[in-house]
Amino acid sequence: MPPGAPGYGLVVRFAYDVIGIIRDQIRDGGRRSEVGGLLFGRDEEVVGVFAAPNVAPAPQAEFRIDPEVMDHLLLNEEARGHELLGSYHSHPRGSAEMSGADAAMAMQTGLLLIIACERGRPWDWRLWDPVASGEAEFVVAPPYQL
Ligand SMILES: [Zn+2]
Repeated sequence: MPPGAPGYGLVVRFAYDVIGIIRDQIRDGGRRSEVGGLLFGRDEEVVGVFAAPNVAPAPQAEFRIDPEVMDHLLLNEEARGHELLGSYHSHPRGSAEMSGADAAMAMQTGLLLIIACERGRPWDWRLWDPVASGEAEFVVAPPYQL
């Protein structure tokens, strides 16, 4: 669902440094494997990003987070008053469309940010909202002050 379509409405704010961390991770992650992690924050503002190792059996085609790593991050962030807002990962050789596995990940974690890459650089960022079954808009805010 494109922005402006009926039913569309969710706008998520990303702290500026969150986007920088994700961009650096993709640049350093190379072109062979998908890289990603979890997004934490409050309300509809993402203020924390945690890179997680990709434990998928075929990491060139899928991103999967170890459930124990996810549980550990959840406990740490809940203690800081943050909740899990979603996850993100790269598609080093594809578009930023959701795969079947991605849809399952979105249902598990909430929002799903997919970044399509070309020559190791992120070029297309799409945020999927599993509740609305559509694409959400996101804006990048200045560095967040806690
Ligand atoms: Zn994917």
